[in-house]
Amino acid sequence: MLNRIIQSSTIVTLLLAAVTLASDGAFAFTLIGAGKAVKGWAGNALELHVNPDNCPGEVDDLMDKAIAIWNEVPTLGILLKRGDDTRTTIDQALAGAASITPTVHCVTSMAAVGLNPAVIPGVATGQQVDSQGHLNYGVLILNAEEGAAANVKTLNEELVVDVIAHEIGHILGLGHSSDTSALMYYDASKRKKASLAQDDVDGITYLYPRDELNGDNPFGGCAVIKGQRGRAAIDATLLALPAFLYLMTRFFQQRRRVRKA
Ligand SMILES: [Zn+2]
Repeated sequence: MLNRIIQSSTIVTLLLAAVTLASDGAFAFTLIGAGKAVKGWAGNALELHVNPDNCPGEVDDLMDKAIAIWNEVPTLGILLKRGDDTRTTIDQALAGAASITPTVHCVTSMAAVGLNPAVIPGVATGQQVDSQGHLNYGVLILNAEEGAAANVKTLNEELVVDVIAHEIGHILGLGHSSDTSALMYYDASKRKKASLAQDDVDGITYLYPRDELNGDNPFGGCAVIKGQRGRAAIDATLLALPAFLYLMTRFFQQRRRVRKA
């Protein structure tokens, strides 16, 4: 049953037309975007705003747990937060009229938003990009339809957190992964608990690489890397170091030889 629920949800998500990043098998993750990869959200923080209407009473807790899963990635260059609640309705959000975004909604009629209430517990949709290709809009929908088999209120907490975290992955710009252990794999029944696989970490870090050096030049006085910043500067120094040591060794060897002579 669960298998069917998640499998069917992938049909909707596939409308996002995922594009495979690498064909050599090194990565299994994909990015959303109609034929071309999108960039992640701009900035180093993103708040998701919940409209609590019709949601499970513990929706804040569920959201926080799902958000924490992504925030645990040490290389992630964006901090996810649960922002203030929103009054934006699902209709407004789907019409692209939400003033703050992304928003999270619990809907009581999945058919009204074009989704099958029996098989789809959650979906991410409505993603838009700005002129730079950065994501700047998204809508996360949770199934709260009474009597529906995929109503999140009837599913166990671990699965709902998994569903929300998976959909947040789509909101952030990830498509589905072919790695069956990944959170972004379409079938949640392959996972024992809501957690990230290395492939999810690779995918989200690709979209949101962390600038460990915060833009500062770590070797400010070194002429070799003057003007360079961040990672490139470290690489330049690491590349230059062996050559420097070699030249120093040669220099002292020659001095010793001169003294002996
Ligand atoms: Zn999905």
